[in-house]
Amino acid sequence: MYQKPNKRLLGQTCIVTGASSGIGAAVAQAIGQEGANVVINYHTHEDTANEVAEKIRSFHPDAKAMIFKADVSKESDVEAMFEATIKTFGTVDILVANAGLQQDAATHEMTLDQWQKVIDINLTGQFLCARSAIREFLRRGPRPEVSCALGKIIHMSSVHEIIPWGGHVNYAASKGGINMLMQSLAQEYGPQKVRVNSIGPGAIKTPINLSARDSPEKRAKLMEVIPYKRIGVPSDIGSVAAWLASDESDYITGTTIFVDGGMTCYPGFSENG
Ligand code: NAD
Repeated sequence: MYQKPNKRLLGQTCIVTGASSGIGAAVAQAIGQEGANVVINYHTHEDTANEVAEKIRSFHPDAKAMIFKADVSKESDVEAMFEATIKTFGTVDILVANAGLQQDAATHEMTLDQWQKVIDINLTGQFLCARSAIREFLRRGPRPEVSCALGKIIHMSSVHEIIPWGGHVNYAASKGGINMLMQSLAQEYGPQKVRVNSIGPGAIKTPINLSARDSPEKRAKLMEVIPYKRIGVPSDIGSVAAWLASDESDYITGTTIFVDGGMTCYPGFSENG
C-alpha cells in the first residue's frame, strides 16, 4: 500500500471505475489517502466496494467516499454516476477510467459477442466516462485553489496498447484504441487545461490474470517477459495514479506511463534478433 500521503489531492473529487477489486481498488485508496473525495464505481461486488469505501473513510476524519453501481458501457448509467457525484460532492476533478475485462479466444473461434463485450466495456466505456468528465470540467470552470488543471483524466490501458497479443485480439484492439482516444482528447482539450494520460500496467496480481500465474510453470513463463523479475501489485499502479492526478505532474499530458517492470523493453530480444 502507498505509504507516504501528503494530501496532494485535498478538496478534489475523483471517480474511479471498476474500483471494487484489483487495480481500481488500489487506485481509489491511493487517491483517497491524498485527501480526495472518492467515488467507487462497481458493477458487481457491492460488498467489496463498501470495504474500499470504509478503508478510505478510515484514513482521516474528513475523508469522504461513496459507492455507485454503474455499467460503464451504458450511457445512462455513466450519466447517472456523474449526476450523483456532482450532487454529493459538487463537481468532479479527476476521472480514473479503469474498468475493463478480458474475453479470450483464438480469433477464428471468437464470437461477435466476445469481441463486442470487450470493446463496449474497455473502449466505449472509457469514451463515455471521459465525455461526461470533460462536460463537467467545462461546465464548472477552473478551480485554481485545488489544481492548475481544469481536470485530469487517467485511462487504464495496458502494455497491450503497443504489444500485440494473439488470442486476445479484442483486448489488444481495445487498448490500442484507448491510446488514440487518450492522445486525441489531450490534443483537443489541452487548450482548456484538461490533462489526459494513460497508465499501461504490465502483469499485476489481480483477478483478471489469475489463470496466467496459477502454477509455478506459468509464473516462470511470465517472469521471462519481465526484466525486473517480479510480478506487480495493485499499489504499484495506485501510487503512479495518485501522482499523475496531482499538480506534481502538471506538464504531463497525452502520454502513456508504462508501469510494467520493463515488459515493454521486449526482453525476448535480449539474446535474439
Ligand atoms: P479486475 O478484474 O480486478 O478489475 C476490473 C474491474 O472492472 C472489476 O472490478 C470489474 O467488476 C469492473 N468491470 C467490469 N465490467 C464492468 C462494467 N461494465 N462496468 C463497470 N465496471 C466493470 O482486474 P484489474 O487487473 O484490476 O483490471 C483493471 C484494469 O487494469 C483493466 O482495464 C485492465 O485491462 C487493466 N490492466 C490490468 C493488468 C493486470 O495485469 N492486472 C494489466 C494491464 C492492464
